[in-house]
Amino acid sequence: MATVTRMRTRKDVIDAARAATRTYAGKTVTIQINEAWCKGCAICVEFCPKSIIVMNRRDKPEVTEIDVCTKCMKCEQLCPDFAIVVLAEPGKPKARESR
Ligand code: SF4
Ligand code: SF4
Repeated sequence: MATVTRMRTRKDVIDAARAATRTYAGKTVTIQINEAWCKGCAICVEFCPKSIIVMNRRDKPEVTEIDVCTKCMKCEQLCPDFAIVVLAEPGKPKARESR
């Protein structure tokens, strides 16, 4: 049986983006890297605006100065393998937070 999914409007998308920004604005974040999924392409390293992600000796990324992170989300959004995730609080992903 087919499932009908409501199309998201432009307003829905903007509201979701604003809610996500508010969620991260004042929070401490942690960055979780799933080394099993990471292929070591270094895209996250290249695009981090603060240059706080470096490749280690095993060719896996590491975050050096989490306090400097601007929570721009580029590392998470550009990783082709979904191997890096920015968490609003340790162990608590943004998607599970109440709005
Ligand atoms: S969220 Fe932005 S600033 Fe923070 S580590 Fe990722 S790319 Fe760098
Ligand atoms: S962008 Fe993703 S796959 Fe590439 S090095 Fe970073 S975490 Fe690994």
